[in-house]
Amino acid sequence: MSDNFQCLRENMVNTQIKARGVNDKKVLAAFHRVPRHMFVGPDQELQAYEDHPLPIEHDQTISQPFIVALMTEALKLTGEEIVLEIGTGSGYQTAILAEIAGHVYTIERFEKLSRSASILLDKLGYNNISYRVGDGTKGWPEEAPFEGILVAAATADIPPALMDQLAPNSRLVIPVGDSRSQDLLIVSKDDRGNLDRESLGGCRFLPLVEDKER
Ligand code: SAH
Repeated sequence: MSDNFQCLRENMVNTQIKARGVNDKKVLAAFHRVPRHMFVGPDQELQAYEDHPLPIEHDQTISQPFIVALMTEALKLTGEEIVLEIGTGSGYQTAILAEIAGHVYTIERFEKLSRSASILLDKLGYNNISYRVGDGTKGWPEEAPFEGILVAAATADIPPALMDQLAPNSRLVIPVGDSRSQDLLIVSKDDRGNLDRESLGGCRFLPLVEDKER
């Protein structure tokens, strides 16, 4: 069966990711290595390499492979960076980032999702990931600044704490819009702290839920 999954994985990389223009070699290598079928329920293993999101616990989703690839490529990681991810979810995007970055700090609001992701990622041998349960809109100030920030949930406004925690010469990728559709934005900060925005096109994510009580 593992050979079958490898075959499905190669097919996913070729037809969904490379074919749509993601060419970063580190990103493609990460997609070849991470066993996406282990990040979904046993009844969904065979669909894990298909071209769409899939449901996970707490009514959340594991993102479409192409979107994970596009967002990862947008960070332009070279291998040593300290990265922040908001919305651990299944942990799949976390694994892709951990393959490429120096260290990944990942925040998830549901404890159960964070715990399942950390158990699986430990089992797969990743030792460069730190997990936090809480509201990712506040970032992770103790570990800032970050040389890449990836937000896997949609927001109308970019949380100011995340902009503050972005290092100079670094990029933040985030879906910005309403609940129906968003623009996938790359916000770049230069060495003087100036910001620039670029859109990668439309996308549809579940909402980034801010914890108002904290
Ligand atoms: N990259 C994940 C995507 C999960 S969906 C994957 O492919 O599996 C988005 C995730 O963001 C959900 O797990 C949701 O619970 C989480 N989330 C939403 N708002 C959040 C917040 N304010 N802080 C942290 N996580 C949040």
